[in-house]
Amino acid sequence: MPQLVLLPGKDRTLARRHPWIFAGSVDKLTGRARPGDTVDVVAANGRPLAKAAWSPQSKIRARVWSFDPEEIIDDAFFKRRIQAAVERRRTMPGLFDQDGLRLIHGESDDLPGVIADRYGDSVVVQLTAAGPEKWRQAIVAALQRTTGCARLYERSDSDVRRLEGLEPVAGWRLGEAPPEPLTIVENGVTMKVDIVSGHKTGFYLDQRDNRLLTRDLAAGRSVLNCFCYTGGFSLQALAGGASCVLSIDSSAPALATAKDNLALNPWLDAQRAEWRDADVFSELRALKNADRRFDLIVLDPPKFAPSAAHAEQAARAYRDINVFGFRLLNPGGLLMSYSCSGGIDADFFQRIVAEAAVAAGRDARILRRLAAPADHPVALRFSEGDYLKGLLCQAD
Ligand code: SAH
Repeated sequence: MPQLVLLPGKDRTLARRHPWIFAGSVDKLTGRARPGDTVDVVAANGRPLAKAAWSPQSKIRARVWSFDPEEIIDDAFFKRRIQAAVERRRTMPGLFDQDGLRLIHGESDDLPGVIADRYGDSVVVQLTAAGPEKWRQAIVAALQRTTGCARLYERSDSDVRRLEGLEPVAGWRLGEAPPEPLTIVENGVTMKVDIVSGHKTGFYLDQRDNRLLTRDLAAGRSVLNCFCYTGGFSLQALAGGASCVLSIDSSAPALATAKDNLALNPWLDAQRAEWRDADVFSELRALKNADRRFDLIVLDPPKFAPSAAHAEQAARAYRDINVFGFRLLNPGGLLMSYSCSGGIDADFFQRIVAEAAVAAGRDARILRRLAAPADHPVALRFSEGDYLKGLLCQAD
């Protein structure tokens, strides 16, 4: 087995059980390893520390599979880890019954670089690092055995693969495309999921609970949903009795799906829904100029800061939309504001939103801090897993 020898003192993050080994911590690799091969990680003094997947092209030079240096990484290992991840979803009442469910959340489920989402009887898997790329067949087989899914699609086309020197890969690994468009029911609302060309694995499962909260808050309120994608928050707001819902997105296919979704739920009052294909930044300005006001505003933008390096520029973008969010609120109105940027932590995000309120001349308080649901767990030793943060604020 090739050995990855760390520099003196560079075993501290491993001692805290953080699974990433950066290039700057590596002294040398003894023996030969191809991308994705399993290596023995040892401290500078030769003490065995872990088994990891070798990623020579990435700044994250290795990702730990096991902190037990004796554990064998083989098909059975993936079966055990995948079974454990799926079982974990049974802990929270009702969670496992969700049609749309994240089954594997990468590092936080002890499977760095592996994402798997279940949509009804279909599973979508995303492999984002050299290690999982090597173990594709074992991962697919274990997912099928554990879930009994009818079909499995691989959607490994995420940008982060480039950092690993991996090409985008996609295709059916089990079964084939279902004859009908795939739909799930999320808290009573039917939603189309385009696993082949939708965002991420087709749907933003991480906002499920927050969409439900929107429904609970919506009765009688006028709602503005910015960055609406396929209408998840919008439809829940309608289900909750919103008086009107204006939804904005700059993706025409996403808006087309949003309208299909509304039609799939004929019990919702379509008259109350308005969709705009527009850039949120300019549309917010236009709404302000037109003197529009809302009782509940959702801001769920894309990842403006994928890493800390983009934080400053991203902060300006978050600040801009939140200033308009506060300006467009009626007295007593609610702002639900999110960031899914890894490069911006919860404290920083709260500061940005606080500054935005001041800039808008509004006083506001936080009613609730929001995050992803329990099928997106955050391993305590992997704070990067805590990417989605939201604030529900009420303005005076
Ligand atoms: N809230 C959604 C997910 C939002 S994802 C849900 O619950 O499903 C972010 C969305 O922002 C994407 O649909 C993307 O098309 C859209 N988007 C990105 N930049 C935009 C911009 N400048 N103006 C409008 N929409 C934008």
